Amino acid sequence: MARRRVEGRGGLLADIQTPILTEPLDSLFHITGEIGRGKFAVVKKCVEKATGKEFAAKFVRKRRRGRDCRADVLHELAVLEVARCNPRIVDLHAAYENEHDIVLLLEYAAGGEIFDHCVSDELLSEGQIVRLIRQILEGVNLLHQTNVVHLDLKPQNILLTSLNPLGDIKIVDFGLARRLGSVGELREIVGTPEYVAPEILNYEPITTATDLWSVGVITYMLITGESPFAGEDKQQTFLNVSQVNVDYGKEAFSRMSELAVHFIRELLVKAPEDRPSAADCLRHPWLWQQCLSPELPPLPPVSQRVPRERSGGAKWSSAPGDLEDKENILDSPQSKRFRFEDDAQAPRDINI
Ligand code: ADP
Ligand code: MG
Repeated sequence: MARRRVEGRGGLLADIQTPILTEPLDSLFHITGEIGRGKFAVVKKCVEKATGKEFAAKFVRKRRRGRDCRADVLHELAVLEVARCNPRIVDLHAAYENEHDIVLLLEYAAGGEIFDHCVSDELLSEGQIVRLIRQILEGVNLLHQTNVVHLDLKPQNILLTSLNPLGDIKIVDFGLARRLGSVGELREIVGTPEYVAPEILNYEPITTATDLWSVGVITYMLITGESPFAGEDKQQTFLNVSQVNVDYGKEAFSRMSELAVHFIRELLVKAPEDRPSAADCLRHPWLWQQCLSPELPPLPPVSQRVPRERSGGAKWSSAPGDLEDKENILDSPQSKRFRFEDDAQAPRDINI
């Protein structure tokens, strides 16, 4: 199989093994409705003519704002390759290219976004939320073990394999993902204001802990149906994030165990080094209450379940499995820079 090399830039992956096919997609697939859309991508459902199998085709534009961004799209493809063995990340089936787009042919996640469960009148039960958060953490933990950070974890990028019954999660959208520890400065990272971590606003290095902040935001949203930092406008939202202005007095928390609030509080802390890692989170007692998730394996002994403080964040001392604890700090002091004044134009996202 041909191995392609594209120019490597700070944190971007450059090696791809997937052949990029050039035959027209519609010769092999029935392309049906649009299922999602972002700034530079359209996602369409398609059915393979030969097999009847369903896929999601993500058409990603190669030119953006007059700039050739093919390398950025190939980076997204390369991250999906790295994550191939991760069952919590959407599977890459094939890649195509036409004049305007690179098309990532992905496993179809039929259950839609968990965002729908954050804005629904009927919120999920605590047991269901615990199961989804555990799965998200499993995916993030494996991703972090490969030194890759997602940097855009939000309810719109966490999909479900089925809706009824509620399926398993699949993490998508690796356009902003970066490999940590690589040489070079990372520019033009884009995030969504209400999900962005304080270190991104404060010009501080991005670490795996940045993703854990987002897990805290997602958990809050699944429980309350509200976004914890969303303000009247973007400036208010940024202020709420940088002051970690979170309301834990919401009625919705009263239907959860107290451990749920403890879990979120541990993640939504300003200093990244004080946040638990994904592996630490997987040991949090909230995720191991058998009364919430009867299908879970038995709890570890009580003596090992008590949270213990240690410098660098709260950790929980036992793991149900063999979970590795990895934290990675970007070496570059000027890793990612955020400028408020650059953001005047962007309606939804911020330029960093
Ligand atoms: P963008 O980079 O534009 O945000 P995403 O990869 O997040 O693109 O895809 C946009 C939306 O398309 C997602 O939020 C989701 O609703 C839908 N989508 C993406 N991938 C899939 C998939 N594999 N299966 C089903 N829906 C998908
Ligand atoms: Mg997205």
